Amino acid sequence: MRLVLLGPPGAGKGTQAAALAAELGLAHIASGDLFREAVERGTELGLQAKSHMEQGKLVPNDITIRMILERLQAADARDGFIMDGFPRNLEQAQALDEALSQKGLALDKVVCLQVSTEELVRRLGGRWVCRRCQAPYHMVNNPPRVAGKCDRCGGELYQRPDDTEETIRKRLDVYLAETAPLLNYYRGQGKLVEVNGTPGVEAVSRELLSILKRR
Ligand code: AMP
Repeated sequence: MRLVLLGPPGAGKGTQAAALAAELGLAHIASGDLFREAVERGTELGLQAKSHMEQGKLVPNDITIRMILERLQAADARDGFIMDGFPRNLEQAQALDEALSQKGLALDKVVCLQVSTEELVRRLGGRWVCRRCQAPYHMVNNPPRVAGKCDRCGGELYQRPDDTEETIRKRLDVYLAETAPLLNYYRGQGKLVEVNGTPGVEAVSRELLSILKRR
């Protein structure tokens, strides 16, 4: 299965993509995680991406598309993948379709998680993430058992530098202007499924699995 998970920042793409990847045996490809790893390691890619990320802007398409197409070559992605955070605009979506079609492949489904702006701002403002395994927590809704430590791997929790109020607003604007038009693109291909991302993590997971297993 080849899937894309769409939705605004804070909709739960990362959490749901990780759960689906484990359940369905798919590679989880998260462009934001790949960029953050590169920034952390101080690689050339990280240097190119850092300032765009800090401002809540998209990293330029040539850099992003090259990174994702390279990641798609890895052995674990050959039998299927779930992408989260990519594509984020029309040029990226077309590049992905073209790269797949050159191999005689295509996306099977594109799932969009819908969450109100008010709820997104609340979620992102209280978000803490594990530096090591990327597991997300929320100060109020889903706090870790030990403050500052990941329940899963014991890693250090931190607030993403782009989870400040001003940058959150910018990222939501970028989503509406650049990424939301992809809904029509995939609707036109008959691949789009829209799912309410507001209920709890488990309820959304169950809904996604039942949709994907049905089709
Ligand atoms: P995310 O973790 O998906 O919220 O991504 C964090 C940041 O990484 C974004 O605000 C962008 O600056 C950058 N980024 C992630 N994915 C993409 C993409 N597909 N295209 C351009 N920039 C991206």
